[in-house]
Amino acid sequence: MIKQAAVILDRDGVINFDSDSYVKSLDEFKLMPKSVQAIVDLHKAGWPVFIVTNQSGIERGYYDEATLAQMHAELYKQVQALGGDIQAIYYCPHHPKNECACRKPKPGLFQQLALEYEIDLSQSYYVGDKITDVEVALSIDAQPILVTTGKGSKFIEHELVVKQAIPIYTELHEFTQHLLSKSFTPKPYI
Ligand SMILES: [Mg+2]
Ligand SMILES: [Zn+2]
Repeated sequence: MIKQAAVILDRDGVINFDSDSYVKSLDEFKLMPKSVQAIVDLHKAGWPVFIVTNQSGIERGYYDEATLAQMHAELYKQVQALGGDIQAIYYCPHHPKNECACRKPKPGLFQQLALEYEIDLSQSYYVGDKITDVEVALSIDAQPILVTTGKGSKFIEHELVVKQAIPIYTELHEFTQHLLSKSFTPKPYI
């Protein structure tokens, strides 16, 4: 079995606008310009696209899983309308106090994804806007990508980002343009 590389995305602050008071409803789920197009472009170029996101607002009681599903259905709808797709969305619903194995920067959801979809994390990218996104990507041996949307601009001079020379892009679409401009052909599913 040959494993495939993937582009894995954080959600809040990368695909949709983040909120300090949580994204609690479909109404508050506002997609950022060109983020849908970025996902579509990746898909059309043969990259499997995944989302891995912390959604502790669920266990905090700010919204429920049905509401989260509504947001994700809207995202799928917009992506698929342009001929794209998302392989799967993994989320941690837990409160940080639970110290679960799936809340980033813990690698649980990435390990699950790698098993379920035969993904080679060491050949994959994880795009996020927080230092915990960079940390988890490094811990699973994926290539971290920091975007300056969301909280990202706060971390561009973070020691870890500087030391590890983490690539920084102004937004998801800028990264995908760069990735897709290289003559890289992802491995097919076998
Ligand atoms: Mg984020
Ligand atoms: Zn969790």
